[in-house]
Parts: sequence; C-alpha cells; structure tokens
Amino acid sequence: MENNNHIRHIDELGRVVIPANFRKALSLETDSPVSINLQGNTITIQAATSRCAICGKEDNLHNIGDKWICQSCVDFINHKFTK
Ligand SMILES: [Zn+2]
Repeated sequence: MENNNHIRHIDELGRVVIPANFRKALSLETDSPVSINLQGNTITIQAATSRCAICGKEDNLHNIGDKWICQSCVDFINHKFTK
C-alpha cells in the first residue's frame, strides 16, 4: 500500500512540499493551479480545475463570483426563472 501520511515542515516563506506521489496521482506539475481551503483546523489542497458548479461540465463556462457555471445551466436557469 502506498504511503498516505507524510509529515512535512513549513519553510520560512510558508511553503510546504506536496509529496511527489500525491502530485503524480493528481497530475500536478510545475505551475498547476491548486485550490487551498481552510475549514476548521484542516487545510485542503485540491487540483483547481474549472468545472460548472451545477453539472460539472468543463467547457463553455462563465465565471460568476467565485464559481463557474456552464452555458447550458445558464440557459436552463434563465428559462426556468425568467418566464
Ligand atoms: Zn452546467
């Protein structure tokens, strides 16, 4: 079984290295965007892919606040709530 628990030390600039096997598992390379979130006392780092917040599609996206919504969902919402 792969080692899933790594103890790392934060450097003087606040950086921490993501273990190579984790980066490989998520295809994270140099300059890959990641989303860092704080919830309670837990920090999570996720591969930051742009997906529709409603249906999960990855294309034809519109940025609304901090979310992405695809054209199909925009059309559906417009049809549903503007009639
Ligand atoms: Zn959508």
